[in-house]
Amino acid sequence: MSNHLFDLISARAPDPEKIFLQTLDGHSISWRQMLSASARYANALVGLGVEPGDRVAMQMEKSPAFLFIYLACVRAGAIFLPLNTGYTPREVGYFLSDAQPKIIVCDNDRADSLRAVAEKADVRIVTHGQGQEGELYDRAAASPGQFANTARGADDLAAILYTSGTTGRSKGAMLSHDNLASNTLTLVDYWRFTPSDVLIHALPVYHTHGLFVATNTILFCGGSMIFLPKFSAPQILDAMSERPGRLRGTALMGVPTFYTRLLDEEGLTREACAQMRLFISGSAPLLAETHRAFSERTGHAILERYGMTETNMNTSNPYDGDRIAGTVGFPLPGVALRVADPETGAPLPNGEIGIIEVKGPNVFKGYWLMPEKTASEFRADGFFVTGDLGLIDNRGYVRIVGRGKDLIISGGLNIYPKEVETEIDSLPGVVESAVIGLPDPDFGEAVAAVVVREKGVQIDDTAIHDALAPRLARFKLPKKIFFVEELPRNTMGKVQKNVLRDTYGA
Ligand code: AMP
Repeated sequence: MSNHLFDLISARAPDPEKIFLQTLDGHSISWRQMLSASARYANALVGLGVEPGDRVAMQMEKSPAFLFIYLACVRAGAIFLPLNTGYTPREVGYFLSDAQPKIIVCDNDRADSLRAVAEKADVRIVTHGQGQEGELYDRAAASPGQFANTARGADDLAAILYTSGTTGRSKGAMLSHDNLASNTLTLVDYWRFTPSDVLIHALPVYHTHGLFVATNTILFCGGSMIFLPKFSAPQILDAMSERPGRLRGTALMGVPTFYTRLLDEEGLTREACAQMRLFISGSAPLLAETHRAFSERTGHAILERYGMTETNMNTSNPYDGDRIAGTVGFPLPGVALRVADPETGAPLPNGEIGIIEVKGPNVFKGYWLMPEKTASEFRADGFFVTGDLGLIDNRGYVRIVGRGKDLIISGGLNIYPKEVETEIDSLPGVVESAVIGLPDPDFGEAVAAVVVREKGVQIDDTAIHDALAPRLARFKLPKKIFFVEELPRNTMGKVQKNVLRDTYGA
């Protein structure tokens, strides 16, 4: 039966014995093994009662099995719902009650801590180990390596990815088979991915960047990847080097922190990058200084692109032609992009700053169970309001100048201040707080909190940190906490975060 996304992958699959994925120790998985593993897992999901349209949540460390289970969901017509491994059980509880998945697949050693929230949401836990153990692993191992794919059309949902909400509630972005497929076809073409490519994959797989941009590109070009458990600059250098009998990387996709960390390595030289054809950066702004230093050291101009969970990729610097630092390039083929007046929605001429709006087959189907929120983020003519502020320069390059939503991006991960503020404000002795991002040479931005205490109350930064630790993922915890008598406000009563950033940025 026809399955929009998976059919495109199968049609482009290379020689089945070709390596799909290799780990740094040289362990390889062929395309044949990957495709049959996805069939085994699809059979296992069906055996667990997963039906087309059911959500399958997953909180699991990065491993090849993660990718097999993603593909199994696509093949079985289920909706894949990956969760950041940093989320606390309390946070996972919210996603389970909101998305009502049929099952949650989690690491064996995570199961006990998730038991209570899963029971409360009436969601069955299915374990999977990092090696050859766990309920789902056992079920897949005992299942056949063929699967009759479930019929899925272009508009059927393939995944829900939660983005944090400015109002404190996370929103589930619904992504269809064609949202993913159309964008991947464009990227493969635009970035010239071919079967000879070997992508160095060091991104997390629960996020759109590592899951869709990176993995789907390789699945659609019939290439291979070197799969690293997480980012490590020495391991990236190793993956770029000539190693007998092992794959050598040709492309890297990363967040800006990858590139600043690589620049700290003496081994990053032109010779080390001899086999590389492309370095891509996205998810947060790449400093012009990093672009310049990288090009000087390696001879490669990093290609910066811009996208978001809701829209997949929107713009990219060109493959041929100038890759200009501080810009995110041109709208991708098929993507319409305009800069509009944030209040009226009227399109602005080139050079003027406004809110970036996009429309195209890449744009998501709306927020899960939030029709009103969805409606409020689309214009009447179908353009999605990204919330990013930017302009189009006189050469047609898009520049992002700020984030309308005060989003903090630390190490490529998004933190919405409101969510952290709500937790701090709930602590006894706290009047209110403002959470801001401060420049950080390593992470791009670091989370900082400015807190107003009740008179005479002595709650200190350690006490606040300790109280937040069990409630928020580590990457959201403030690295610095400042105390003030009152927060600066404008005449409309809005907290002036720009003033706080200036005061504490130094
Ligand atoms: P996410 O949904 O986690 O992928 O985050 C999307 C947000 O990251 C966008 O709305 C932008 O604010 C930001 N972003 C992504 N790529 C870039 C980039 N190249 N430069 C600046 N900001 C970016």
